[in-house]
Amino acid sequence: MKFADLGLCEPILNAVASEGYETPTPIQAQAIPHVLNGSDLFGCAQTGTGKTAAFALPIIHRLMEAGTPSAKVRRPIRALILAPTRELAIQIADCILAYSQNTFIRHTLVFGGVSQVPQVRALQRGIDIVIATPGRLCDLMAQGHVDLSHVETFVLDEADRMLDMGFIHDIRHIAERVPKKRQTLFFSATMPKEIRELSGTLLVKPVSIEITPVATTAETVEQGVFIVPQSNKPRLLQTLLADSEIARALVFTRTKHGADKVLRHLLQSGVRADTIHGGKTQSKRQRALADFKGNRLRVLVATDIAARGIDVDGITHVINYDIPVEIESYVHRIGRTGRAGATGIALTFCDPAERSKLRAIERVIRQPIDVLKVPTFVAAPPPSAVNHDFSEREQHRPARPTEGGNGMPPRRPQGPPGERRAFQGNRAGGPPRRRDYSSR
Ligand code: AMP
Repeated sequence: MKFADLGLCEPILNAVASEGYETPTPIQAQAIPHVLNGSDLFGCAQTGTGKTAAFALPIIHRLMEAGTPSAKVRRPIRALILAPTRELAIQIADCILAYSQNTFIRHTLVFGGVSQVPQVRALQRGIDIVIATPGRLCDLMAQGHVDLSHVETFVLDEADRMLDMGFIHDIRHIAERVPKKRQTLFFSATMPKEIRELSGTLLVKPVSIEITPVATTAETVEQGVFIVPQSNKPRLLQTLLADSEIARALVFTRTKHGADKVLRHLLQSGVRADTIHGGKTQSKRQRALADFKGNRLRVLVATDIAARGIDVDGITHVINYDIPVEIESYVHRIGRTGRAGATGIALTFCDPAERSKLRAIERVIRQPIDVLKVPTFVAAPPPSAVNHDFSEREQHRPARPTEGGNGMPPRRPQGPPGERRAFQGNRAGGPPRRRDYSSR
């Protein structure tokens, strides 16, 4: 299958070629013909599958079919794309800019945390596609700056995350303002009951496409868990980072405060790192992300919301420093690595008190996660520790230090000589090791 087979017009095909895309990804091959036909779509797919192009390319094509708009009238908003976070909205806008480079299509971004003045000005100039986060869009609608009455295509990207972030009322409010006769494209990485209910109220006879089923975490991601008390996590992280195999890591913490604390530890031990979380200004978040993308940082410490949708190539490791509060965030988090066919590694630090959450994650992903040995000197109690729970250490049989003495998990005997990896799991081949987690 080639992009040309999908019925997209020449300017779009040229843009796709200049982006270096040779063949459509599965979601693109399946979704584009339906979106071109005007059907509603329910897409169950994670970021990294090429879903942005799956909706953006046919939207641009359809907008162009009407011909060049008159310069005399202000162009109405004809496509509205809602995204949960500013970062994802920016990423979508970057894609639309690239895909529409040879066309007359104009787009703009609407999101909070920055002045609304340039956004209002852009809307007044006349815009074909608006990419927005729900909160700021509702604010601008309330002020009379946004007219959605000409919207032909309404996209909800990462709808599950929008619900998690409490945007349900905003979404319903916005949906009431777009015409009833429209095309709706609804994307979600997971499919909890609330998502099915919401999609049921917004979509009409949708075509359903499921690319990465909820329960199968990216197959290219190897997963492991360290059972480690909270107090030993800084040492464990530091020890793991002694391995240069961890070239680019995204570290997740539960809170902003936690992210700042981890960052302090990392900077003290000389690791190039920064944070991305909701407590930082938009410009600082963007700078941290740009530094991470530009390889100027080895580690980016993030909270779930800030990291949502981050599309950075070559993330070798995702480290769940804190186990996610919402189980399904685990799927989103580890989806940041192992993209585009590359192998990624996801390591989770689980406090002994949080084992039940680990089980819940294993149930959601329908597979057990390998328990890795905590390096001995990480597991050893700090000299000042009193009342330390030694039974935990016994139970998880701390590893003997490896030859390098860095406490990394032991090498696989069959690995190539000189190979040193933070976690080797099933990478060297063979079927994934299955364990009956119910018996543990
Ligand atoms: P998305 O899932 O939309 O966030 O896309 C993930 C990444 O895949 C982005 O960096 C896109 O530029 C890239 N991409 C999308 N479609 C293709 C394609 N057909 N071939 C190669 N790369 C693609």
